[in-house]
Amino acid sequence: MAEELNPFKIAQQQLRMACDKLGYGSEIYEALCEPQRFLTVRLTIKMDDGTKKTFTAFRAQYNNARGPCKGGIRYHPEETADTVKALSAWMTWKTACVDIPLGGGKGGIICDPKTMSQGELERLSRVYIRAIAEYIGPDIDVPAPDVYTNPQIMAWMMDEYETVVRHKAPGIITGKPLIVGGSEGRGDATARGTVYCIREAAKRLGIEIKDATVAIQGYGNAGSFCATLMKDFYGAKIVAVSDSRGGVYSADGLDPYEAIDFKAKMRTVVGLPGTEKISNAELLELDVDILIPAALENVITGENASNVKGKVIGEAANGPTTPEADDILHRNKRFVIPDFLCNAGGVTVSYFEQVQNAYMFYWPLDEVYERLDKIMTKAFHAVVDMAEKHNVNNRIAAYMVAVERVVEAMKIRGWL
Ligand code: GLU
Repeated sequence: MAEELNPFKIAQQQLRMACDKLGYGSEIYEALCEPQRFLTVRLTIKMDDGTKKTFTAFRAQYNNARGPCKGGIRYHPEETADTVKALSAWMTWKTACVDIPLGGGKGGIICDPKTMSQGELERLSRVYIRAIAEYIGPDIDVPAPDVYTNPQIMAWMMDEYETVVRHKAPGIITGKPLIVGGSEGRGDATARGTVYCIREAAKRLGIEIKDATVAIQGYGNAGSFCATLMKDFYGAKIVAVSDSRGGVYSADGLDPYEAIDFKAKMRTVVGLPGTEKISNAELLELDVDILIPAALENVITGENASNVKGKVIGEAANGPTTPEADDILHRNKRFVIPDFLCNAGGVTVSYFEQVQNAYMFYWPLDEVYERLDKIMTKAFHAVVDMAEKHNVNNRIAAYMVAVERVVEAMKIRGWL
């Protein structure tokens, strides 16, 4: 039978496994297996050439037992309702896993931002917020950046929301530019969280991180900062990076800053001087100490998992590994740091941003980093301890930690 690649089906499959391990019956699974609320909206804007174009967009509010829903908004031509639902489930487990007082949500607009002007993007972002304004709020559901959205888009969205509600509300959205209430350290927060987890994994496994070789799939916000931080913090050797157009490899290690500059000019890392071209598929199978998938879902599957040689797989992306691949990796003793633990640094600093917005008092950068490190390190060991205690893989362990917390909150509220 062909492997299931629908992310929402996968998320449900993973949840069911965790419920089974926790000894929960179908009542609990049923209460958790779909978003509490799912919005589909149609957005019409004027394009620069004067024509009108209509887009479909979503917002999933998966679970708010532990606090307001929280999660990013993706702009992607292949966005689907099911992808958004899956990502909103993973946000629920993410905030619970690192134990910040938030629920899970996610949004998406089916569009190709690479072909749109700044003006078109601004109009689309504003009309999206107008369409969902009555369902979101600093205490209800708080969006943030994700794939192909950025601080500028967050600023337009906040501005639009404030225009609708007619008062200042910086806590409506996170990942904002500093000048309008963003937090220090939000930019590279996802990657920092990933790198802290990798540091802890290396300690537990006895890998010398200083000499480690690293391959990174995806060179956007998460991937590029993972590269620079792994090199700057630990002197690790970045041997391969990639983006949607392909990858580059250098056995001696490449300079991640040069790769960032090159990509800014050429819109791809392919062609970076001093490297040879490889495919994304080849990158995933390189013989490295640390593999960081930092792009999209379903890149490590039943098809290629047995060829994955990375000792530590730090999932900076959401949903990069399928359940079939998880089994194979576990059998082959690959140490997977599961996505909703490994990439939780972003939402953790988003939470700090919400706190600072509420207090109207802003923290210095070192305070952000210090608090982030503490939260990530604690969550990492809670998950790995759970995995050892119950002899399950790290992903199921992360689910067990997270689902248990959400269920406790639902029980104490009287929902279950
Ligand atoms: N989009 C990021 C994630 O998947 C961040 C979400 C947030 O900051 O709310 O975790």
